[in-house]
Amino acid sequence: MADMREPIESGCPDPWQYMHPLMRKNFGQWKYHEHPRPGVLLHVAYSGDKIWTIKAGTQRILDVFTLRKLCDIGDQFAEGYVHFTLRSNIEYMVTDEAKVQPLIDALEGAGFVVGGTQNSVAMISHTQGWLHCDIPGTDASGVVKSMMDELIDEFRNATMPNRVHITTSCCQINCGGQGDIAINIQHTKPPKINHDLVANVCERPSVVARCPVAAIRPAMVNGKPSLEVDERKCICCGACYPPCPPMQINDAEHSKLAIWVGGNHSNARGKPTFQKLVAAGIPNNPPRWPEATAIVKRILKAYKEGARDWERVNEWIERIGWPRFFEEVELPFTKYHIDTWRGARASFNSSSYIRF
Ligand code: SF4
Ligand code: SF4
Repeated sequence: MADMREPIESGCPDPWQYMHPLMRKNFGQWKYHEHPRPGVLLHVAYSGDKIWTIKAGTQRILDVFTLRKLCDIGDQFAEGYVHFTLRSNIEYMVTDEAKVQPLIDALEGAGFVVGGTQNSVAMISHTQGWLHCDIPGTDASGVVKSMMDELIDEFRNATMPNRVHITTSCCQINCGGQGDIAINIQHTKPPKINHDLVANVCERPSVVARCPVAAIRPAMVNGKPSLEVDERKCICCGACYPPCPPMQINDAEHSKLAIWVGGNHSNARGKPTFQKLVAAGIPNNPPRWPEATAIVKRILKAYKEGARDWERVNEWIERIGWPRFFEEVELPFTKYHIDTWRGARASFNSSSYIRF
């Protein structure tokens, strides 16, 4: 009998081999860190070792030429070790303070922006949009590019009350979309079914099971097995579209953007907080998305002017109250802000205005 072959290990590679040797040496033995200037962190170990981290923003979807340029800068001006953060920033580590400014000059000279540390607006995290996914209703990368063009000074400087995480998500249900400010797709009409294709393309039981409100039923249409949607129940979430592309929900006119605020992951000091919808029905307007960007800028301006030092967006809103938040950011309160889903009795209290 033939020998069984070893499984091919295709998971995340061992990170130790890529880590700066001084970081390996002092792993778990850091005494404190400082923020000498925006875009630079200094970590000091109990051993007395020091390491400076210089952070620059990138566009996440990097071509090979840009990657080579970034690596060449790392070889020439840093110490040959880099690290990509979750928010698509590249970080260079150096053990000599004298290398910090020449490295910043090299990065800025090549067109990269140094920043994104401490109380800045971090690089917007985003999902892939048109590039590789099969269900996006917008191009999240494009929203990020046009928004960061306008917010770049808030990335370059650290003048916000606290750190601001902005995220985008190009469908309504899957990756991304949880942050201090989140720009997410919002579908506003039920899916339109192409009955000729359903029988050939879709596993009907799995599509029926996908619907969170049981709005989909099997049906015979024109003599062919298909599906039907009870539009009074449908909450236009788009969950049926990934397993069944003939249930088309994306639409140039009816797929809008919505803005949510106040989301924060749990950490050592606090529980997670859940974001709430504050602006709905915003035009999904490529290539620059000016309407969504204008609202994000209004929220950031009000937060910058009104929050106390080190208050995150959700803490600031909790302190001033939701009615005042809507006044400060000049957003209308509409029917979309009220959770009217009949299965949501337990979550009515998460509506911004309705409390009982
Ligand atoms: S957010 Fe949705 S559309 Fe965008 S990459 Fe993730 S699954 Fe795909
Ligand atoms: S859009 Fe969502 S709620 Fe509507 S039918 Fe599809 S899965 Fe169900």
